[in-house]
Amino acid sequence: MHNDISRILISNDQIKERIKSIGEQITFDYSGEELVVVCILKGAFIFGADLCREINLPLKFEFMSISSYGNATTSSGIVRIIKDLNESIEGKNVLIVEDIIDTGLTVSYLASLLTARKPKSLKICSLCSKPQCHKTEVKIDYFGFELPSEFVVGYGLDFRDLYRNLPYIGVLKSDIYTRFLEN
Ligand code: 5GP
Repeated sequence: MHNDISRILISNDQIKERIKSIGEQITFDYSGEELVVVCILKGAFIFGADLCREINLPLKFEFMSISSYGNATTSSGIVRIIKDLNESIEGKNVLIVEDIIDTGLTVSYLASLLTARKPKSLKICSLCSKPQCHKTEVKIDYFGFELPSEFVVGYGLDFRDLYRNLPYIGVLKSDIYTRFLEN
């Protein structure tokens, strides 16, 4: 698996350190409050699992699955709900936890969908953002790293549902895509 990576953009140590400080900031900002973390599957499951252990607050977890990608590497702009929340978020502090914000279409759609359910507050936390790719204005309240407009894998992020378990974020060798196109 590691052999398929051409270069590492963010190491596991960098990710750990950044998550610790985001967790501290969230703990501080919501002090005295309860928080519902809405983890967006599948990509944010590793980030969400690590982040929640750096947050010292009464915290509940919800999972939502929204797809805008299929198996390709470019955004379709089509957002589909695969799995919705189990519980109502009305009157609650809600934090959307995303893996990466590329065009911003997915998270914008999600934010308007959840706002309509009348939470007490709604914020967005994303491990990565690609500012050069944003097609819509998104207010990211907490984020880990800015990335160039390149397709990345690892730490929850996939290519064809693989590579999510890489402990770092990196770029695939170009022949991986060539092989995929040939098959
Ligand atoms: P957006 O709607 O912001 O264009 O896309 C958001 C979703 O697309 C992310 O949650 C993620 O699942 C996927 N995505 C965007 N950029 C990348 C990338 O560089 N690598 C991977 N693996 N997925 C990405």
